[in-house]
Amino acid sequence: MRPAAFLLALVLIPALALASAVPDLAQVKSNGIDYVSLEEGAARLGLRMERLVPPTAVMLKDGPQPVARLADRSRESDIKGLRVFLGDPVIERRGTFYLSRTDFEARIVPRLRPDLCPAPPRPPRVIAIDPGHGGLDHGTENRSLGTMEKTYTLDVALRLRKLLEGAGYAVVMTRETDVDVPKQIRAEIANQASADLLVSIHFNSLYPNTKTTGVEVLSFPPRSQRSTNSWSPGEKDDSEARDAPVNEFNTWNAVLAGALHRRLLDSLRTGDRGEKFEHLGVLRMLKCPGVLVESAFLSSDTEAGRLATPAYRDAIAAALLGGIQDYSDLLRRLRPEPVAPAGAVPGTQPSSPAGPPARSVPTRPGAKP
Ligand SMILES: [Zn+2]
Repeated sequence: MRPAAFLLALVLIPALALASAVPDLAQVKSNGIDYVSLEEGAARLGLRMERLVPPTAVMLKDGPQPVARLADRSRESDIKGLRVFLGDPVIERRGTFYLSRTDFEARIVPRLRPDLCPAPPRPPRVIAIDPGHGGLDHGTENRSLGTMEKTYTLDVALRLRKLLEGAGYAVVMTRETDVDVPKQIRAEIANQASADLLVSIHFNSLYPNTKTTGVEVLSFPPRSQRSTNSWSPGEKDDSEARDAPVNEFNTWNAVLAGALHRRLLDSLRTGDRGEKFEHLGVLRMLKCPGVLVESAFLSSDTEAGRLATPAYRDAIAAALLGGIQDYSDLLRRLRPEPVAPAGAVPGTQPSSPAGPPARSVPTRPGAKP
């Protein structure tokens, strides 16, 4: 976006008392978007902002520890070592860096101070796994190996189901065989089962490019924000004026995306293609947090070769289990359950003791019961 395109309101607008982690941050408008001062927002999170050289970028620090890097006119950020695309570009005016209020609330706060986010969901017990594609819908294919996305999504999903059940979770699958299921029905299956989260499993493609490898994690954009791809040249603004049901969980979608993203990168040691946003039919109607993971590129012969080995598919499933457990652990810290469920606490390893009773989990001040 060109600097000339910005019509920065000079009058500070008192922030509305939204259901926000930081309701009283002063804001300015630019191009119809509400922006907040990054320095002020960081201070509200107990962080400090440091200008970098060249002075078009800033670092947020927690004591001496860098936790986020953002740059003027860019939607690309680094948050705790993960590549995260913002919904709106950062802007700098008269020496002050501004971040859109939506990005601050839905991208930054959940990742840096999830304890400040309102209404943590209950720790997950029921996990919905969605193996992408199926039946006549093959998804993408590797042209050299003749391997199909729909085969691997189901294979990884079945491996993940086994791991999750072994860890004490209940699992609902949107498909268990080679059939196609409409996207909205997939969300409905998760909703009917009162799932606590949904992970949709896919593999990526960039033909004719056969070199690109890496992990992408996709969530549904918050209302009024565009999908990541709609910023490409020639693409139209595809933002929506109304909340979709899954938008109720914007902050927890971000926390879940971050947990899965980190585990996939740590485990697979492949490229970081970033956390992105898309108006995905499988996520839109969810009544729980949900993300879509693209753990490898089938259009890369290298990555398709790895994916053809059961060990690599096991590694993907184990990374997804690890991410779900990390997310569960965080929610248990934020919202300890009043009564420990009989038997194992979902998400703890079955071979280990059943874990501390929920009442012994440290609480935070002001935690909701
Ligand atoms: Zn797919």
